[in-house]
Formats: sequence, C-alpha cells, structure tokens
Amino acid sequence: MLGPMATTVSSTEASVVDRVPKGLFIGGTWRDATGGGTLDVLDPSTGDVLAAVADATPEDAMDALGAAHAAFPEWKDSAPRARANILSAAHDLLTERIDELALLMTLEMGKTVAESRGEITYAANFLRWYAEEAVRIDGRYTRNEAGTGRVLTLRQPVGPCLLITPWNFPMAMGTRKIAPAIAAGCTMVVKPAKQTPLSMLALAQILEQAGVPGGVLNLITARSSGKVMQPLIEDPRARKLSFTGSTDVGRTLIEQAAKQVLRVSMELGGNAPFLVFGDADVAAAVDGAVIAKMRNIGEACTSANRFHVHESVAERFTQQLSERMGALRVGRGTDEGVDVGPLIDADQRAKVDELVRDAVSKGARLLTGGKAVEGAGSFYEPTVLGDVPDDARLLTEEIFGPVAPVTTFATDKEAIEAANRTAFGLVAYVYTADLTRAFRVCEALQTGMVGLNQGLVANAGAPFGGIKASGFGREGGPEGLHEYLDTKYIALNV
Ligand code: NAP
Repeated sequence: MLGPMATTVSSTEASVVDRVPKGLFIGGTWRDATGGGTLDVLDPSTGDVLAAVADATPEDAMDALGAAHAAFPEWKDSAPRARANILSAAHDLLTERIDELALLMTLEMGKTVAESRGEITYAANFLRWYAEEAVRIDGRYTRNEAGTGRVLTLRQPVGPCLLITPWNFPMAMGTRKIAPAIAAGCTMVVKPAKQTPLSMLALAQILEQAGVPGGVLNLITARSSGKVMQPLIEDPRARKLSFTGSTDVGRTLIEQAAKQVLRVSMELGGNAPFLVFGDADVAAAVDGAVIAKMRNIGEACTSANRFHVHESVAERFTQQLSERMGALRVGRGTDEGVDVGPLIDADQRAKVDELVRDAVSKGARLLTGGKAVEGAGSFYEPTVLGDVPDDARLLTEEIFGPVAPVTTFATDKEAIEAANRTAFGLVAYVYTADLTRAFRVCEALQTGMVGLNQGLVANAGAPFGGIKASGFGREGGPEGLHEYLDTKYIALNV
C-alpha cells in the first residue's frame, strides 16, 4: 500500500472545473449571489481550492422558491411525454459527458475516477428510469363495496419541492430526487452540500440543456445551509421536503417541516450489519464485504459498518478480509491504480481514527491499517479489527470510513439480535447458502433493505430507504415516484 502523492491540478482538471457554472440557477437564469458572496470548494486529496461558487443569501433562496412556485401551475399540466423526453435527453447528455464529469466528481469528492463513473451511470439510470415512468402515472376506478357508487383515484404532483443532498454521492443523490420530481410534474429548489456543489451545478446545466423550463429546477449553493433553508421549509409555498443526510440534521428538519405540515422524505444515516453464517461461501462473502465496506471509501449510508461472523468461519473470513483490505492502494482518486481515495475532510478522518482508537483501547485486535496516512489530504488506511468488544463505539456509531470491525456469533438468534441492536435500520447484508435460513433472517432484520449474498443494493428500479432512525420514504422504483404525487379520491355517485 502506497501513501498519497501531493499532485497539483493538471490543465485537464482545471478545464473540467472551468466548464461548470458557479452561480445560482434561479428561474432559468444563472446569476451571482446577492452581494457577490462565494464559498470555496476544496480538493480533499490535496486541500487545494478548486473553485469558488455562489454563496446564496436567504433572499436568493426565497427567489428560488418564488420561481418554483410561479412555474408550478404550468408545469404540473405539461404533457407527461414532454417531461419524459426531457429526462431522456438529460440521461443521454450525462452519459456523453461521463469522462469529464467523473473527473470533476473525483476532484471535489475524492473517490476514484472509476467509482465516480459508476456513480454517474447510477445517477443517469434514475433519469432513464423515471423518463419511462413519467408516462405511466395511473389511478383506479372501481365499484365501492356496497355497490352503490364508484371509487375514482388520481395522482397529482405534490407541488414545489425542497431537495437537500449530501456530499458523499454528489450527483446520484440529486437525480434520485430530481428525476421523479420532474416525472411527477413538480417544481423544485435543490441545495447540494457545500463540500461538493460542482457535480450538481453540472447536472443543472445538463437539465437546462435538456429542456427543463425556467423555474422548474432552481439550484442554490450556500455556506449556511440552515439559514437559507429554514425560511423555505417554513414557507407555505413549499409542499414537500426530501432530505438525504445525517440523522441529526434530519431530526431538525422534520421539526421545521411540522410547521407547514410538509410532506417529508428522509434518507438518513445507517449502521449496516453484515452477517456471515457458517454455511456461507466464505470467498463470496469476502468479495461482498470488500464492496459493501469500501464502496465510496466507506463513506456510504449503505456501508457495512460491522461484520458479525459465525465462529466456525470467523478466522478464515477475517484473515481473507484483512489480506484484501491491506492490499488496497490508497491515493489521489485521479491517479492510475488507486483503489481508495481520501476521506472528505480532516474532521471526518479524525472521527474515524477516534473510533478505531476507542475499539483498540477496549481490546479489539488490529489486523491491518489503523492510522491516518501522513502527508497532504485526509487519507486513512483500510483497516480491519478482530474480536471487537460489544462496548466499542464503532458497533453503534456510523463509521463513514474504511474500517471493518469483526465480531463473532454462535447461533442465528444471537446474529439477529446483534444485527438489530442499533437505532438505525437502513440495510443489512446476509451471506448464507441455506434458503430457509435466508428468508427467516431477512424477515427478522429491522431494516428497509437486505443484500442477500450480495454486497450492493443500489438500483434505480428498486425502493431504496430505511426504517427507525434511518428515516422514511423510498427513492427509486415506482415507490420513488409516489413520494412526489398526492392521491386524490373522488366519490362518484354512479
Ligand atoms: P449532513 O451534514 O446531514 O448534510 C446533508 C445536507 O444537509 C447537506 O446539503 C447540508 O448542507 C445540509 N444541511 C446541514 N444542516 C442543515 C440545516 N440545518 N438545514 C438545512 N440543510 C442542512 O450530512 P452529510 O455529512 O452531508 O452526509 C452524510 C450523512 O448522510 C451520513 O449520515 C449518511 O449515512 C447520510 N446518507 C444517507 C443516505 C440514504 O439514502 N439514507 C444516502 C447518502 C448519505 P451543508 O453541507 O452545505 O451544510
């Protein structure tokens, strides 16, 4: 494993960044923030400033909501086929520019270019999936049960939406909301995270080129997200809030949304258990573990946070996982042969290191990694810990980094209890060759999703989302579209 090299931004990298608009996109026009304020976007692998983007004021944010509100009456009545065509065109434009946009994403977020390409494909899949769905919004017509009348239902767009996204998947977390909102006929104000606004700015430009009418999609970037978003969340012109981010911020936003009784979707934090039963194919489980742990440098809500392994295979699994993790090459995501980029910033790295120190001080065995990489950028070594005691904080807290703690279990009951011993409930992974056990365990897990003998669940056609402190609502699939539609029932006296 080699350490990162401090690399200066090349001319290709600079031109990719230059091509992105840096302003606010409001009512179909790109403009500076009132007063001209800006905020810097940094490369997490060097700490260098990549670009400065507009720092919206609360007045700018209100303008964005005003534009979304003004555009709604016409947009909601637009032809579904017209909305589908826009999404389809955006899918094609995004796919055509994948090389350049992958580099852009790597520069601002840190993951390898190969991973950024994977995210852009995933992001584009939502545009395509909801292009296909826009023309299939249905209702129903039935006799009521007494036979005295008819039940008619129709689905109508919710209205202007507020869409807030995190830094870890800078584009896919956007299209997962924007595509169904457009398909449904909603207008929106989008606010990406301040660490990674460039990918979303590029996406807004693509949607503009694809024909999204002025005011339908408005984008603001801001240093003080609370200050600009709270007045919007509490404004009666907004009708829906969809948030992806941490559970703490989600709680605050749910409280704010209560004021106007906004419809709310919350995609929050996770603490995914990864269960390996004694009958599992261990080699396949290790493959799945590396994917579930290391996708996005471990900075994914779906990241396997803890590994519960049956005692009969624990030694074999842990040894193979340590070898694989120890062989991963850490470095700048733009460099050839790199597997693992930097964490998003020094604070995140300090938090990961603190959790590792805590586990080791309580008796966990350090099998590989276990420390920050010296030099520029916020790199951390891929780490495996064995014999992790129950009171180690990383079993209950979201690690958000390249650290795999392993514990053992003896019975299925113990495994299920350990898996459910968390406030979160986003996803779990289960490796077993026994079909009966597989279904029994999948049903008993308190999560919104399960990866059965696979380490990746993300798919544009599937309902992604959690229960408990991981939130509510679903993104992807038909369920993701229903988040942007209200059902109206008309009682027919016929
Ligand atoms: P975060 O700190 O909660 O921020 C998420 C977004 O909310 C950012 O755009 C942030 O803006 C904004 N924000 C922060 N405080 C706000 C406030 N008071 N009012 C309005 N907006 C506010 O989360 P993060 O660190 O970016 O993302 C990591 C978290 O997201 C992890 O917990 C992860 O599990 C979760 N996540 C969940 C899913 C899922 O689908 N369940 C997917 C991805 C990530 P600024 O950053 O500009 O302040």
